[in-house]
Amino acid sequence: MGTLTSAWRFRSPRVRRRAHPTPPDLPTLPVRRIIGGGIHSRLPVVSNFVVAPKNPPRSRLDSPIQPPPPVASAASNEPFHDDIVYPKAIPFVVIHLAVILAIWTGVTWRAVAIGVALYVVRMFGVTAGYHRYFSHRSFKTSRWFQFVLAWLAQSSAQKSVLWWAAIHRHHHKHSDTEDDVHSPRHRGFWYSHVGWIFARKHEAPDLAAVPDLAGAPELRFLLRFELLPAILLGVATFFVAGAAGLVVGFFWSTVLLYHCTFFINSLAHVNGVQRYATGDDSRNNWWLAVITMGEGWHNNHHAYQRSARQGFRWYEIDVTFYLLRLLATIGVVRELGAPPVEVVRNERPLGRATVERIARQVAASFDLDRLASHTPHLPTMDELRARARSMIPHTPSMDDICARAYERLTQGVGA
Ligand SMILES: [Zn+2]
Ligand SMILES: [Zn+2]
Repeated sequence: MGTLTSAWRFRSPRVRRRAHPTPPDLPTLPVRRIIGGGIHSRLPVVSNFVVAPKNPPRSRLDSPIQPPPPVASAASNEPFHDDIVYPKAIPFVVIHLAVILAIWTGVTWRAVAIGVALYVVRMFGVTAGYHRYFSHRSFKTSRWFQFVLAWLAQSSAQKSVLWWAAIHRHHHKHSDTEDDVHSPRHRGFWYSHVGWIFARKHEAPDLAAVPDLAGAPELRFLLRFELLPAILLGVATFFVAGAAGLVVGFFWSTVLLYHCTFFINSLAHVNGVQRYATGDDSRNNWWLAVITMGEGWHNNHHAYQRSARQGFRWYEIDVTFYLLRLLATIGVVRELGAPPVEVVRNERPLGRATVERIARQVAASFDLDRLASHTPHLPTMDELRARARSMIPHTPSMDDICARAYERLTQGVGA
């Protein structure tokens, strides 16, 4: 299990700390602890009010307002690193090791061409199928093409569309909070990239999260035989191009597909720029958009999830959307979701939940005990605004965020 297992055993200092559960009343202050530069990593040191220290003391801030309750089985505050079912990872590791077999099979042009084609076609299955259709229902299609999308997606061996969509909807509901199933901020890079997939608590799909899909018998069939499309595809590559076809055409492209997809859970929440305030660490990253056929515009996507187009501007290349538009012109798909103009221009006020989440983060960037010992002990609105601007991109909801952050600080200091 070599490298991969070692990677899972790797734990950031944050992860190691979680091995000894903290008392429930400890603050969840995230200041400057975000792995790889989350939004708080840009906090400046502001001289006339206090920045929370690296190891903050107990805070009263979080007690008046509780975080939202977890949903379904995927949400839990239990230690997350002990529940990885290592035997479940064996097929995944075997697929990685199969890549090496090319030493003996050789690398033929035909096999490489199959690999490239399977990467592109199946990446479309991942982005248009698993993600934009099954998880977000960002366009409509017929029942038969829904099945084609599901089959194509599952030929990438990333479990059933029902499982994928349930997990992904949960991710958007709890992005980069403690309840997020794969947040680099809380779980460390490698856990968010690959480790979480084999966690016992994520094994069974939460069908309650996908009521719009779970009733379809053909999707239930694919849930039961989730590896069937991938196995049949592997067999086909062997018959078409021999052992090299199987190894290079199928296994190489499958492994590449795995990690480019996983980058959206890990790197796209760490590396890139934020255009929209979303209350999480999602980022736009052009090179991730190139290799994932448009998924790298992840901050755009978190800002407006129902859009079938993730590259909001003309220069934001989104090959998946171009293909969907092509399919729409021949009537295979329809009603492609598009972001409203005010969203694209960043002129739409944020939703209440997002305002609340960002206000909590802004307020939590102050050390309440130290604030309480200073006079005047609360930052002014201008100071709060400056702090918020250093943490998030421009948003028309800035005043609301600062007002809520002020209320939280007032409650915290007065508690
Ligand atoms: Zn999504
Ligand atoms: Zn995300």
